[in-house]
Amino acid sequence: MEFRMIPKPHGPRTENVVWWNGQTNRADRNTLNKHKSGLVWLTGLSAGGKSTIAHGVEKRLFERGVRTYVLDGDNIRHGLNRDLSFRREDRKENIRRIAEVSKLFVDAGIIVLASFITPYPEDRKFIRDTFEGDHFYLVHVKCSIETCIRRDPKGMYAKALGGIIKDYTGISAPYFPPEDADLIIDTEAHDIEASVQCLVNLLHDRGLIPGIKAFDPSERQEKTRAEQQEIT
Ligand code: ADP
Repeated sequence: MEFRMIPKPHGPRTENVVWWNGQTNRADRNTLNKHKSGLVWLTGLSAGGKSTIAHGVEKRLFERGVRTYVLDGDNIRHGLNRDLSFRREDRKENIRRIAEVSKLFVDAGIIVLASFITPYPEDRKFIRDTFEGDHFYLVHVKCSIETCIRRDPKGMYAKALGGIIKDYTGISAPYFPPEDADLIIDTEAHDIEASVQCLVNLLHDRGLIPGIKAFDPSERQEKTRAEQQEIT
């Protein structure tokens, strides 16, 4: 097995740790999958539509044989980042860990759809720098605070406005809209279907999923039936 020493000077605890290069690499996995891997980072106010769009894109691409995975703010805070609060320094660590996890997924050949409010430019810059020269796309899921408060699918704005939740982005903590977004999806101007399509188009136009742009659901139903017959 090929073994090369690659210094990875990322922190004080890496001194006696050596990077191992496997026999299959990301390029091999991308070839096997017939698509490229990369990170799409969706930023925006809570209830703006990040998760709805991310999961919509995941479903649509999955049906076309594209390997994707949604990293979702709340889910990550249930597990990996359950020890972190919403204080500034913990928000930073939250992002750092997610960026590292995303790196692993991207190396594994997957298109990662990361859905995180990410209100601070500094944190978004950190992620962009981490993925410099790679397939990284920042998507601003744009929606006014008034509409987000009206949607309030999880009842969080009601709690934040009532003072029950502190440091809530858009109410008692700031959100700084990105000036460097690769794509802006205005979810007040587009319905869910059109919003999902905007993101699929981005991935297509950037060459991650060649040949997969338009999608006719009836075509998929036909394929599913044919596949089922093959299995049974
Ligand atoms: P976030 O992940 O940004 O917190 P969610 O996806 O959890 O937001 O919630 C967004 C809410 O807005 C959902 O109830 C969804 O049905 C609704 N919605 C309305 N229009 C859109 C749209 N164009 N794109 C995404 N969500 C939308």
